[in-house]
Amino acid sequence: MEFLPVDIEQYAVDHSKPENQILAELNRETWAKVLRPRMLSGHLQGKVLETFSYMIRPQRVLEIGTYTGYSAICLANGLAKDGKLITIDINDEISHVAQNYIEKSGHKESIHFMIGDATAIIPTLNETWDLVFIDADKENYSVYYDMVFDKVRVGGFIIADNVLWSGKVIDAPKLHDEETRSLVNFNQKIQNDSRVDNVLMPVRDGLMIIRKK
Ligand code: SAH
Ligand code: CA
Repeated sequence: MEFLPVDIEQYAVDHSKPENQILAELNRETWAKVLRPRMLSGHLQGKVLETFSYMIRPQRVLEIGTYTGYSAICLANGLAKDGKLITIDINDEISHVAQNYIEKSGHKESIHFMIGDATAIIPTLNETWDLVFIDADKENYSVYYDMVFDKVRVGGFIIADNVLWSGKVIDAPKLHDEETRSLVNFNQKIQNDSRVDNVLMPVRDGLMIIRKK
């Protein structure tokens, strides 16, 4: 679902620099061949993530939820020189798509793609994160947040995607499923957390932008 009227959304897309050829091809291939293509960030959100990354110039980025690699490539574009992005996905059936496009994007050296359950992999990573992008299973958003928090540097960012969940978060959560309930709890947890500053940006399906104070 789009929150903006379709023509306004289109105007925003038309006045954002186009995605490059590799990302456009990845978008097409994902929609043609992969299940649940709506999960891919897409042009506008990809550009927003890329721009945040350029503003931060991170040395270390953690992405939880690679899917076909679109957002990983966008975030990797803004890495500092010698920076590294680690991205994790549990689904090995689509990993060849992500792998292929990571190579085509020229980020083969800077993107480290790990296949497995993020809840098991994250505790094994010994890094200090400048930026963490949470975009995997919605039930675990709070778990991921707690797992990474101490390893995010002061002044670093955590961005969580889909926090508006097509608008379901504003209805009585008891009417809804586990995913909606988890996202409602996550958003409230962040809002109550005095260790961070945060803004919920209504971009696409909602991005929670969190800065560690
Ligand atoms: N970030 C991508 C979209 C990610 S879609 C983009 O914007 O283009 C969410 C992904 O999370 C799916 O590919 C799914 O396989 C993965 N996922 C779900 N549960 C996971 C888990 N426990 N550990 C790692 N990845 C998981
Ligand atoms: Ca997402």
